[in-house]
Amino acid sequence: MGKVLVIGCGGVAQVAIQKCAQNDAVFDEICIASRTVSKCDDLKKKIEAEGKSRSKITTAKVNADSVDEVIALIKSVKPDVVLNLALPYQDLTIMDACLACGVHYVDSANYEPEDTEDPTWRAIYEKRCKEQGFTAYFDYSWQWAYQKKFQDAGITAILGTGFDPGVTSVFTAYALKHYFDQIDTIDILDCNGGDHGYPFATNFNPEINLREVSANGSYWENGHWVETKPMEIKREYNFEQVGIKDMYLLHHEEIESLAKNIPGVKRIRFFMTFGQSYLTHMKCLENVGMLRTDPVMFEGKEIVPIQFLKALLPDPASLGPRTVGKTNIGCIYTGTKDGKKRAIKIYNVCDHQECYKEVGSQAISYTTGVPAMIGTMMVMTGQWKGAGVFNVEEFDPDPYMEALNKWGLPWVVDENPVMVD
Ligand code: NDP
Repeated sequence: MGKVLVIGCGGVAQVAIQKCAQNDAVFDEICIASRTVSKCDDLKKKIEAEGKSRSKITTAKVNADSVDEVIALIKSVKPDVVLNLALPYQDLTIMDACLACGVHYVDSANYEPEDTEDPTWRAIYEKRCKEQGFTAYFDYSWQWAYQKKFQDAGITAILGTGFDPGVTSVFTAYALKHYFDQIDTIDILDCNGGDHGYPFATNFNPEINLREVSANGSYWENGHWVETKPMEIKREYNFEQVGIKDMYLLHHEEIESLAKNIPGVKRIRFFMTFGQSYLTHMKCLENVGMLRTDPVMFEGKEIVPIQFLKALLPDPASLGPRTVGKTNIGCIYTGTKDGKKRAIKIYNVCDHQECYKEVGSQAISYTTGVPAMIGTMMVMTGQWKGAGVFNVEEFDPDPYMEALNKWGLPWVVDENPVMVD
């Protein structure tokens, strides 16, 4: 059917690319590109050695910080869709290149600048903090600002097709379509009950992960943001197939888009589980300055502490063989249907070792990589189409929900869920 160019070959991309190769009726050709082309070559060899896919796979070297390099790559590969699974830092350059070439764009995380001390970015950020009331470094304003440009170019940008954001947002569209006339509250619960045996490691890119969890929390209530201190709000929840875990309220990007796209929603919260050891390590690293994102001088050379820390921590892609246990990610909704109050939970449970057996990765990469493939398939097949910049909850959820069941992330609707107080 078509050709995808995947930018990035890290933990998430490795799953998404293998899933594209499994789905060879849709993805005839896959080009894998990142700065380290040897990683892309290794994945190509692995897929070809398995001999199960008819997709033609090619690789290329690109630095996606350069719009010109991405344009040159798109011109030579001629993809139908670009799937951006590099880092949030590259979102805007890749969107610019897609615009220049008239090619559809898909990603899994919203824009965040690499250098948060950059004065031009900082001035806009500080204005947004005051106007909007949340201080996270990432937000949708940068990418939503491309709406008119994508409309005028007649191409589609799909933002945030991972699990959260991504599947959680599609679950919400599905709940609204089939279970509610009005959704009042949404609690998104992200539980990783996996154990990798290391004293400290992150399940996806450490820099992005640590930035996210060390920041202030926030939630949406009655039309505005309420901001909390990091890890200030803690709850205990008994997760199906995982058990009782502590979870903490975080700011998360889908709260922003769901607040905009789900009419009349009164409250949206996001909780993620963390063990005490993870939190103690993180606090200690923060206290000694290792989570700093601005450059510091060391022996005559500039280094960014959080990037140095990333080099020391285990590569998330290497956690696959060691991680046992399950993830349980889903959403609890309350609202009304036909004048009656109701509550439901939609969730997926994913087993780390099952993922490893299938694609050689742990469940965090799997639960992000599968939806990245599915979102790209929605665009490639024309099941989701439109000119402009969209979040996933703006489209018909049914074909995506069906694809989740088919491609490894089956979901459950619980009509009598345990609630979060
Ligand atoms: P990794 O750090 O494992 O991989 C990032 C990849 O991007 C690497 O292959 C890297 O390769 C490549 N890359 C980085 N900079 C550039 C550049 N300038 N040009 C080209 N390629 C580049 O990250 P993950 O796989 O863990 O995460 C990928 C994305 O998925 C991130 O944006 C993350 O935020 C998002 N994510 C989304 C989730 C969701 O549920 N929505 C959950 C988890 C992650 P190289 O250095 O060789 O260029």
